[in-house]
Amino acid sequence: MTPPDPATLPRPVGPAFSHLGERIGTGTGIGALMDDLGAALTGDPGMRMLGGGNPALVPEVAALLKESLEEFATDPASWLSMLGNYDPPRGNPAFLEALAARFRESLGWPVSPDHLAVTAGGQAAFFALFNLLGGTAPDGRRRRILLPLAPEYIGYADQGLEPGLFRACRPAVERPDPADPRTFKYRIDFAAVDAALAAGDIAAIAVSRPTNPSGNVITDAEVRRLSDAAARSGIPLILDGAYGHPFPGIVFTDAHPFWAPHVILTLSLSKLGLPGVRTGIVVGPPDVVRRISAFTAVTGLANNNVGQRIVLPWIRDGRLLEIGSRWLRPYYDERRRSATAIARAALDRAGVDAVLHRSEGAFFHWLWLPSLRIPSRELYVRLKERRVLVVPGEHFFFGLDEPWDHSRQCLRVSYAQPDAVLGDAWRILAETAGEAGRGRVHARPNRSEHGQSGKGGTP
Ligand code: PLP
Repeated sequence: MTPPDPATLPRPVGPAFSHLGERIGTGTGIGALMDDLGAALTGDPGMRMLGGGNPALVPEVAALLKESLEEFATDPASWLSMLGNYDPPRGNPAFLEALAARFRESLGWPVSPDHLAVTAGGQAAFFALFNLLGGTAPDGRRRRILLPLAPEYIGYADQGLEPGLFRACRPAVERPDPADPRTFKYRIDFAAVDAALAAGDIAAIAVSRPTNPSGNVITDAEVRRLSDAAARSGIPLILDGAYGHPFPGIVFTDAHPFWAPHVILTLSLSKLGLPGVRTGIVVGPPDVVRRISAFTAVTGLANNNVGQRIVLPWIRDGRLLEIGSRWLRPYYDERRRSATAIARAALDRAGVDAVLHRSEGAFFHWLWLPSLRIPSRELYVRLKERRVLVVPGEHFFFGLDEPWDHSRQCLRVSYAQPDAVLGDAWRILAETAGEAGRGRVHARPNRSEHGQSGKGGTP
């Protein structure tokens, strides 16, 4: 049969999209970031990938994985049932049972499988949680998610099905070490948090710990203070432990794991080194967990069960909670020290006015360029042209009531790559930032230059 002449076919009609379709289709920060990541990993081996949150391949974890998969391969009944069956939407019952027992035994948390739900990664858990808790309530009132510390994770920004879902608090900006003016640190402004809660329209407080992008780790005392504030307001505290405790434990401070009956802790297998299995875990009040499970049934029927099956033996023998302290933390600690030295040397050589956030967890440097003359998203474009991928800071400052110059002066730069890549990338970054700066500084910036008054200043 000869194919029809295309000119004679009916012209396709462009579909009309909903608000959501329009918003998602016109570009989101997380969409651009993941596209960059995918393109660099698959299309351009020469791209220096300091953008996405892809974990490094840590040799000991890779060996453990290989061992588990080889054991697994010898047990066809096990992998056939894994691949051939849908799990219940809440997660695999053996996985939930083992994880609850591990949390009870190792951490003393009073949890049962009723407190646990599996999701398609932490990202999917947040989509469910934010929209199950925030938005328009049955009484017609609109309730928002309070982010006590901006900048906060880019991946939350476009997750609200209703616009205006987030209310973020601007932090205090400190120079934590008077002897080191090249390091800064955000600190939660609890007065701002209390004022936001007093408005009465907050559905939950949410914070990542470690914080993506800055690598900040809020202290145990700060977590308790947020937890108490949430309890007083009768709302949950959502703690995003994607990089944190109890696993994967990429934390360089003395922060401890935390859970309480009104806390929703989200965890993930991704930063352990398994982002491909798309497995997130929610530890929360049973009524929240039931709704997460219902959400999974509606949006995806069931979860991917491969990751749950791979880590099940590690949960049973306790290794899951040791991978962080034995292998990941030392690995990333070495990376961050080396990367800090590389970054500082490159910035100094180029005479760039630059400060780095104190690195307390995760695997990013958060660079603040107080003298930058162009928005950081423009700097990102210039860097991409020179084959260095970073993430511009603007994307992380959503939910603030007022504009903040600082939000256009920052970049997130991963340090998970080898030194050779970092060396080239930081040299190019420093030179490009220097060209885009308000003149170069050869002495380190003093505090008053940036409107800083030491502790508690805001840029
Ligand atoms: N939370 C934070 C702070 C993250 O950085 C990420 C991913 O980078 C996630 C959640 C979601 O990760 P995943 O969906 O891979 O579990």
